[in-house]
Order: sequence, then structure tokens, then C-alpha cells
Amino acid sequence: MSEFKTVRGMRDFLPQDARTLRYVEAKTREVAELYGYREIVTPVVESYELLTAKAGDEIRSRMFTFKDLGKRQVALRPEFTASIARIVATTLRNEPKPFRLFCAGSVYRYDEPQKGRYREFWQSDYEIVGSNSAEADVEIILLTHRLMRAVGLWRFAFKIGHIGVLRGILSQEGLDEKVQNSVMQLMDKKRYEDAFDLLTDGGISKRAADVLRSLIEIKGNSPFETVEKIEACVKGYEKSAEAAANLRKILRLVVDSGCNIDITVDAGFARGLEYYTGLIFEVYVPEMGTALGGGGRYDRLIELFGGEPTPATGVAHGLDRIMLALQGERADTQTLKRAVTIIPLKEELRSEALRISEMLRNAGTPVEIEVMGRKIAKALEDADRRGVSHVVIVGERELKENAVVVRNLAKREQVVVKIEKLAKALMD
Ligand code: AMP
Repeated sequence: MSEFKTVRGMRDFLPQDARTLRYVEAKTREVAELYGYREIVTPVVESYELLTAKAGDEIRSRMFTFKDLGKRQVALRPEFTASIARIVATTLRNEPKPFRLFCAGSVYRYDEPQKGRYREFWQSDYEIVGSNSAEADVEIILLTHRLMRAVGLWRFAFKIGHIGVLRGILSQEGLDEKVQNSVMQLMDKKRYEDAFDLLTDGGISKRAADVLRSLIEIKGNSPFETVEKIEACVKGYEKSAEAAANLRKILRLVVDSGCNIDITVDAGFARGLEYYTGLIFEVYVPEMGTALGGGGRYDRLIELFGGEPTPATGVAHGLDRIMLALQGERADTQTLKRAVTIIPLKEELRSEALRISEMLRNAGTPVEIEVMGRKIAKALEDADRRGVSHVVIVGERELKENAVVVRNLAKREQVVVKIEKLAKALMD
């Protein structure tokens, strides 16, 4: 029989990576609580129809889809938004607005595997439902900023745009929505010439094409100057001008929040998903070309899922990419506490070692116990190799005095500590 391997694009998370993933996930939950987002858990498997309803060709063509044994066409979720829209349009339809929802878990896309791009990956997702105000958009940006800081990232930057600026021109030109979506997807991939070919085929005026060509060149990291350029460029296109004014308002609030955020405003920025209607943004770290997270406003999505017209805005963060960025920033996450190892010097002391380890766990100290029956020298060598910070040695002589030996492996020092004071001693 050939050797078993993981399926292409799927990964095992061995203890260190699993721990970092759960650490990042725990931070996403802390941020959710800080901002009042309540967690929901949705199924990994949803109906194909739901997931494709508004997903955009890009995601639709990359879904893991199959028929279940009851012959239902189902798929693994490629994102959380469709599931949330389903819940908002059905179970939570009468919930007083606004409300905030959070979820975290694995999502699946048949992407081409490479660094930072997998077929099974983890996202945290925050959605604020029922508010069309700029403050709601700002909240999504601020909580993303806070999450980056909370996991331990310092050098990151936001790219911000507004889908209404581009779409305003296309709508005023009477361009069919389907064609608009295709144009946005091409622009998302920076395939501007193909986008302009489609626009010409769609019959847009030369003036509009010229405005769009100038617009996609507007980009800068002084937000208000850049918005001013956008406003000047779209004069005469009412909907685009409104969108630019909305973008200005959002940026004003972000700056006024006192949160020092590095922002590039990019008028040619489009996101592949069809459902965005307003602000769009992504967050990056300098050493990675791909986004750590992205989101925006989608005011028409809930009604497309059969709900009342409901404005909403949200963001999804890629936890795997956050982990990669953390590796670039520093070797390990300092809050990941290493366990203490307990080693009994003799077989007869094993029950005493077990008793002490339970006592330490009761006090919240992570403990591993030596289970190989090895001699002390070998057990210490092994603890050292695994990066354990402290070893508790249970020996007969000290036990008579109700004490044990605590050895600090990094400093190669050891002291005798009374058992009743052990938990505290290990915390220092
Ligand atoms: P999206 O909804 O496509 O903007 O995805 C949100 C975030 O998920 C992105 O900003 C990435 O951080 C992450 N992401 C998207 N696709 C992948 C993938 N194939 N592998 C790992 N992370 C991904």
C-alpha cells in the first residue's frame, strides 16, 4: 500500500502551529467581546444554492461541492457571509437592529496551493447588521486594527476604497449589472485593459471611460488629499460623488478616533465579491503581498437572501495569514506559556507527582508529567529539548519537608520550594 498523505491543499497543524492558531482564534474572540459581537456557530456544509446565490464567479468556480446521500447538492462553505445572511433573513429576521455577530472557523476554497493560500483555511468574521451609518464601517476598521495589535502585529497598513465610486459611473452610463460585476472582477485582478474592453463593448461613453482611466490612477497615503482628487475626478457623476463623500466621512471618523492607522486610499480598488455596495478595505503587512483580511459594506445582500432590505457591513480575517505574518514579526508568541514538567525520582513517588500536578493544574499552571519512567538525567534532557521552562523534581528527601526541587532550565538554577508555595513560585 502506498504511504498516506494529506489531500492536496489540506494541512495538519502539529502542536506548535495548532497552538498558534488557537492563540490567534482566542484573540479574535476577545476582540468580538470588546466590541459587542456575539458568537454564532454555523454549519460547514450548506446548500450549494445558498452559497452560490451571491458569491461571485470567482468563489463559485472554486467551491468544494458534492451530492450528499440524499442527493442534495451541497458545498463546503467558502466564507461565512452567506450563512450569516441566511440567518439574518430567516431566524433573526425580527431581531431588533442593529446587532453584531461574530464567527470563527474553517472555510474551503479550491485555490491553487502556495504560501498563504490553502484549500482549507481559517477565518474570523464580524458583521454589524442594520446600520447604514459611517460609524458602523469605521467600527469594522477599528476592530480589525485592534485585532492586528492584539495578536502582536505592529507593521500593517490598510488599503481603502469605495465600490460606489466606480459603480456610480457605470450605473449612470446604464451598464447592465452583470457586466458591471465582470468589470469589477477584472479590476480586482488588475486586468484593467480587459475591463476597458468590456466597457467599450458595453457601450459606455468616451467621457466615462476617460474618467475611469483617471480614477484608477488615483492612489495615495494622505487620505484627505486623495479623496479630494477623487471628488474632482467624478464631478457630474452624482452617485459617484455621493460615494466619495461617504468615503471622506468614514476617513474623517477613523482619523478622529485617535487610532493611528496607516491608510492608503485607492480609487481603482475593487473586491471580487459582487455584493459590496460601499466601503471596501483590506489589511496588509509589508512583507506579504496578500491580504490578511478584507471587508466592506453590503447593503443589498440580506434582501437577496429573502430578508427585509437591511444595511450591513463586515470583515473576514485570514487566520493562517495572520499566523504567517506573526512568524515574520517574531519567533514565538510570548503569551504561549510552556508547560512545567514534573519528574518523580522513584517509582514509589509517582502518586505524589500526580497529586502535585493536579494541585498545580487546579491553580491554572499547565503541567506535563514524565510518563516514560526515565532516569532524571534523560528526562531533564528531554524537557530541555522541548523548551520547557521549569521542571519540578519530586524526591524523597525534600518530600519529608513537604517540599520539591524547582529547576529553571533556561537559567540552569534550582531551588527547594515548599509544596504549598509551589504554584506561586512557578508563576514568577
Ligand atoms: P475574502 O473573503 O476572499 O476577502 O477572504 C478574507 C481573507 O481570508 C483574506 O484577506 C485572506 O486573509 C484569507 N484567505 C482568502 N483565501 C485564502 C486561502 N486560499 N488561503 C488562506 N487564506 C485565505
